[in-house]
Amino acid sequence: MSEGRAAFVTRFAPSPTGQLHLGHAYSAMLAHDMARRAGGRFLLRIEDTDSARCRPVYEAQIYEDLAWLGLAWETPVLRQSQNSAQYDAALARLGEMGVLYPCRCTRGDIRRAATAPQEGAPLHGPDGLIYPGTCRHRAWSERRPEDAIRLDMRRALDLRPQLPQYEETGITAPCTLTRDMLLNGIGDIVLARRDTGAAAYHLSVVVDDAAQGVTHVIRGADLASATPIHVLLQSLLGLPTPIYHHHELIRDETGKRLAKRDDARAIALYRAEGATPNDIRAMVGLPAS
Ligand code: GLU
Repeated sequence: MSEGRAAFVTRFAPSPTGQLHLGHAYSAMLAHDMARRAGGRFLLRIEDTDSARCRPVYEAQIYEDLAWLGLAWETPVLRQSQNSAQYDAALARLGEMGVLYPCRCTRGDIRRAATAPQEGAPLHGPDGLIYPGTCRHRAWSERRPEDAIRLDMRRALDLRPQLPQYEETGITAPCTLTRDMLLNGIGDIVLARRDTGAAAYHLSVVVDDAAQGVTHVIRGADLASATPIHVLLQSLLGLPTPIYHHHELIRDETGKRLAKRDDARAIALYRAEGATPNDIRAMVGLPAS
């Protein structure tokens, strides 16, 4: 494959926390098909920053399942657990810009503060309850290794009064971030986790998509609500914003979206039962290859 910045670079970025199911197969095959059609590149990235939940056996299974499905990806594969220096550098940069603060709250603290009667109805965002801001007064310089690190959304907005836009395939007008969406629908999200200090998904995904030259992010509609966070972080860090394509989710016969615990729909199981890769393509509505 050619090196350098291609016109179409996409990736499949699974977390090795369970077996790949039909939903993952659809996402990976769709991205692979779109890259092939565009004469572009397809990358695989292992999102394994959550050491408590990731397992080597699931990572091995990802390679096996994707190869069996007929997908080919470039090597070496970026594994996020080996890339923490890049995330730390991005955090340090945001820290210098004055948009981060250390947070000592436990989940229980957050639940109690967010649901206190004087707070009104608690607001929810892509990561759950919107953080009520208990630690917002803490200085970045006071952070301890065990603290979580949060983005101060108000300060971020002060730095970017002209809010960035992004392109979604299938939507003709550019998508625009709004102050209301960022303050009340997202809030002060975690960028590095408590105790382990590991980079949170929103930070690592933005750093890696830029470092890998990803031009098109193809992923499930469940992540569409996180995209404004990613676009804002790209703007703060001076990174390019890819084009986003959020595909529909594969659902079971009751309409519920598939989860990693749905082992009944694991690719490995279909394969063991004698299904072919084209059977899997048919099941998720993709043409035979
Ligand atoms: N690692 C994420 C997941 O498994 C996907 C991240 C992305 O595509 O941006 O859900």
